[in-house]
Amino acid sequence: MAAQPTTIPPEMVTHVLYDSRKIHAGTGGLFFALNGLNRNGDAFIFDAYEKGVRWFVVSEKGLIPELPNAVFLKVPNPLIALQKLAEHHRQQFTYPVVAITGSVGKTTFKEWAYHILSPSLRVIRSPKSFNSQLGVALSLLELHHDADIALIEAGISEPGEMERLEKMIHPTMGVLTAFGKAHRANFESTEQHLNEKLKLFRHCVLTFVSSSVELSKSELASITGDQPEPITPPAGFTKGYAPMIGLLHRLAMEMEISEQQFEERLQNLPRLALRMEILEGLQGNTIINDTYNLDADALREALHYQQQLAGTRNRIVVIGLSAGNSNQQAELEQIIADFNPNQTIFIAPGDSIPWQQFHNSVVLVKANRERSFELEVNKGKELTHRTVVEIHLSAIRHNLAHFKKHLRPGTKILCMVKASSYGSGAERVAAFLQQENVDYFGVAFADEGVALREAGITKPIVVMNPDPEHTSLITRYELEPAIYSFGQLDHFVTGLIHEGKTGYPVHLKFDTGMHRLGFSPSEKEQVLQAVLSQPEIRIQGVYSHLADADNMENSFTQTQIAAFNELKTFFDLHLEYPYLAHLLNSEGALHYPDAQFDMVRLGIVLYGYAGASLAAEMLPAVRWKSAVSQVKPVPKGDCIGYGCSYEAEKDMTIAVVPVGYADGFRRSLSNGKGRVFIHGKACPVVGRVCMDMIMVDVTGMSVNENDPVEIIGTNQTMEAFAASMETIPYEVMTGLSKRMHRVYVED
Ligand SMILES: *Cc1c(COP(=O)(O)O)cnc(C)c1O
Repeated sequence: MAAQPTTIPPEMVTHVLYDSRKIHAGTGGLFFALNGLNRNGDAFIFDAYEKGVRWFVVSEKGLIPELPNAVFLKVPNPLIALQKLAEHHRQQFTYPVVAITGSVGKTTFKEWAYHILSPSLRVIRSPKSFNSQLGVALSLLELHHDADIALIEAGISEPGEMERLEKMIHPTMGVLTAFGKAHRANFESTEQHLNEKLKLFRHCVLTFVSSSVELSKSELASITGDQPEPITPPAGFTKGYAPMIGLLHRLAMEMEISEQQFEERLQNLPRLALRMEILEGLQGNTIINDTYNLDADALREALHYQQQLAGTRNRIVVIGLSAGNSNQQAELEQIIADFNPNQTIFIAPGDSIPWQQFHNSVVLVKANRERSFELEVNKGKELTHRTVVEIHLSAIRHNLAHFKKHLRPGTKILCMVKASSYGSGAERVAAFLQQENVDYFGVAFADEGVALREAGITKPIVVMNPDPEHTSLITRYELEPAIYSFGQLDHFVTGLIHEGKTGYPVHLKFDTGMHRLGFSPSEKEQVLQAVLSQPEIRIQGVYSHLADADNMENSFTQTQIAAFNELKTFFDLHLEYPYLAHLLNSEGALHYPDAQFDMVRLGIVLYGYAGASLAAEMLPAVRWKSAVSQVKPVPKGDCIGYGCSYEAEKDMTIAVVPVGYADGFRRSLSNGKGRVFIHGKACPVVGRVCMDMIMVDVTGMSVNENDPVEIIGTNQTMEAFAASMETIPYEVMTGLSKRMHRVYVED
């Protein structure tokens, strides 16, 4: 049996480790078992050992496991040991070491300084925003001989910390980027906090303090250095950055970068100095995606950046909480309050970002790396490469306003938002219509109504086709069910008795000829008796539905109207309270203005697809768009797509478009039955429609990848597209799959 080793051979240690989760190659690593706030470093020793680590620095107080060939170095505090190692390492180098501190702007300054200096000098910089007691130590351990300067960030959260950092970094130059006036929880006063920061610079030969910081004479006297003049930032950066550019300039001059080089490099300053990502969002939003970490310092940095980027635009802060940091909310709120954004939203684990509610804002999304918030962020992104359904809210507004001209004053409007509001997204569209002051909403099923309530819809909602199982949902969310049969009436009343409810509003549905759901008009007396004997319910509405409203050729609709009139007369006579009589859908309301009764129920006309006679006055609200994925030549005689159903009769060029039958572009549109428009020109489908893609003929056209593709829009109208699938706009709209993003346009 080999002897158990007893020493750590320093010359063989190749790297330092501290997080057992991140160990890929343990061999040669020296593991520091650090005690964090919520963890005991010793707990990770075994994990590190499993990954090949054999050398450990551990707390002398901890329990040391028996592991073959492992060597343990016991110290009073492993973090301090690591810092001592870093301090020792730093002393091996004589090149300038710049310490950067400040309430905000540390990382930005560091990254920009790197950008300005690195073409001329070999620059070492702290990784990411490693600026804590641990981060600084790890940064310093990265120093090596092939360098001319090191840029090290230092952040502090408690009094006394700076001295430790100063000792470790031993900076020769110092930069103070900013100093927030806001009181920091762990300091007695702002003076104490500032003095603490300045301690970092006490051995520096030169220190630059941002012109944004107010220094007293004595404070200024305590450092060797000055406050460089602000310099106008390059185009695209707000003037808030002027003090920082001043600092950069001063450092560049000190490092003998020429004015000309500085000027040139300044012109292409990276927009994003941090790990944050700037994305074009939907609905005019700009997204700052910073889902790397959520510590106080990084958050402050990001909020500052958002402020700079936003100028006068609306600022929204979205914080993704994970199970581990939900108790952090109060602390985060305090930090955020310093920056006074227009809105702050905390997202609980598993919940979604309400992108729909944001418009023309600069949205900062912050979360821990642990939380996979990436998908959530993606949902807010402008999608240039994917297939989207655009809903033009202003067209809906126009159609609604226009339609009202056909109504008597006082006729109420119920908007049908069933089937995800005809595929356009019920929550968003209903919220919009509510703002437009419509009176009522209608849905097919109870859960659709629940979703509306949860999205903040407060207007009454009729459920046309309530499932008997859903009685309690209906009452809990104050939905008004349609009652269409005696069995269903019984069931519902039983539920109400159970809940002790009385006078609950319902709508009686009569079948006046369509022969779908509904009581027969001949049952009206019986229905009335049943209702009057049940104090649990109250008749809020009596309605029926037209079967042939768009057909003016025959008198069927007149028969239905006459039957409904009779019902109305009957209920007017026997009911002692007011109720709403409603009959007409979109087409009905356009053609039979005399049958408006108290309310009309509008659906398709809102989107501009009803009323041939009105077509010119209505605006189409739905567009279906995509973009070319790939363009390729197909030589004469080759086949295209599944089943080789299409053979090129000539040399062709085809474009692949990422839309398929799974999106609602039906397979029946294969081989010339369907088409899309690219640059205003019709491009027929060649080969079969696939699940997620189609191939279209673009021979002779100049088409490139990412070029926009219109499936439904100005060239190919909804009606024309529906006709190519031998159906009607309703089916096209409700067949647009959920996986496509809905983009709401309000112009
Ligand atoms: C869907 C629906 C409507 C709306 O129909 P449109 O033709 O889209 O106006 C009206 N009433 C009832 C009962 C419906 O189911």
